[in-house]
Amino acid sequence: MSQSLQALDRAHHLHPFTDFKALGEEGSRIIEHAEGVYIFDAAGNRILDGMAGLWCVNLGYGREELVTAAAEQMRRLPYYNNFFKTTHPPAVKLAEKLCALAPAHLNHIFFTGSGSEANDTVLRMVRRYWTLKGKPQKHWVIGRENGYHGSTVAGMSLGGMAPMHEQGGPCVPGITHVRQPYWFDEGRPEGQDPEAFGRECAAAIEARILELGEENVAAFIAEPVQGAGGAIIPPASYWPAVKAVLAKYDILLVIDEVICGFGRLGEWFGSAHFDLAPDLVPIAKGLSSGYLPIGGVLVGDRVADTLVEEGGEFFHGFTYSGHPVCAAVALKNLQLMEAEGVVERVRDELGPYLASRWTTLADHPLVGEARTLGLMGALELIDPVSGERFDKALAAGTLCRDISFRRGQVMRSVGDTMIIAPPLVITREQIDDLVTLAREALDETARCLA
Ligand code: PLP
Repeated sequence: MSQSLQALDRAHHLHPFTDFKALGEEGSRIIEHAEGVYIFDAAGNRILDGMAGLWCVNLGYGREELVTAAAEQMRRLPYYNNFFKTTHPPAVKLAEKLCALAPAHLNHIFFTGSGSEANDTVLRMVRRYWTLKGKPQKHWVIGRENGYHGSTVAGMSLGGMAPMHEQGGPCVPGITHVRQPYWFDEGRPEGQDPEAFGRECAAAIEARILELGEENVAAFIAEPVQGAGGAIIPPASYWPAVKAVLAKYDILLVIDEVICGFGRLGEWFGSAHFDLAPDLVPIAKGLSSGYLPIGGVLVGDRVADTLVEEGGEFFHGFTYSGHPVCAAVALKNLQLMEAEGVVERVRDELGPYLASRWTTLADHPLVGEARTLGLMGALELIDPVSGERFDKALAAGTLCRDISFRRGQVMRSVGDTMIIAPPLVITREQIDDLVTLAREALDETARCLA
């Protein structure tokens, strides 16, 4: 059965972020069902999902309440749109709930179907805002090298992933990228103190603003902690210095919470952890715990007031903006997270526990750094002989990822950085298992590379 599915997959299915030919030769892994923090493949293997799907299954798998919410809404109103002055109860209730959970100055939401669409919406809103303010030339957006903001043309352009840009053709004009606050790869080899390095990365934003002309710069976009780039936790000096620069030149702050939102860092929004007051906040993933596709942009009062009072019709929207079934599931997801104290538990108990356990991996010969924040963690792989990064051709991270999967745990690799972001309902015992499985994967990787 799984072999025939693999053959059909090879024949017809082009997978996201995949070398189509290599996958055809290797055959895909078929995941059949899931429960709690575990996924089960077609051969019946139980695998600890250390990545919560794609950083999204925050409440874990198999929550009947979400299934029921979807089924009930599908029976009542499976689809209607929010265009042209219509709406429906799930969209309105979800909008109210999100604005209640968000910081006080975020009082509006524009719904989308995904995080990428949310970032497309961001770009259009930012430029519309400055045009309405009589400054259409203020259109440049500054992002970060190695940042990820999605796969649509605007998402790819706002992101700073060079391999995507190379394949994507010309990017959207008026977007530029500055260095990322990645101390392990960019500051440490130069022998810099992390805090001085953090300030230097913020200074790079100011330098770019001055290069472009402050009157031409509309917004800066970043994640609180860079997720897909490698779970990059910035030095403590970084965000306060960035905030000061943006305030000095009157530049909007866009904080992409697609990964960090909904409890990942132990707060409803990752911005709260770093005391940020963003003007626009793209969200998705954990909003519905990944059960159905939904995203959006939370809009701060400054931008919303202008769009509402001065904007007239905003010619933008998606057929599935605020889809009723997705909205009903997202609302139920947020209600469950609130009722069960999931976010507080990550902040007060599970995050500190993961930190105490995960950092024990720093003594492994292959590990140059082990770091966590909330329920996100990373290991930097190094060559135990040189103490430096492995030769890229060895693809140590990919090797470790594949070994880990085979041994029963999903860990993601970004180059030679291993990442985890498990469901937020993971228990302490399961965190112990996760760390044990990670160490075993490291041991086997070390043996293969020796
Ligand atoms: N923004 C960030 C920070 C992400 O990590 C992602 C996806 O991983 C996106 C945006 C794009 O979201 P989606 O895949 O739902 O389009």
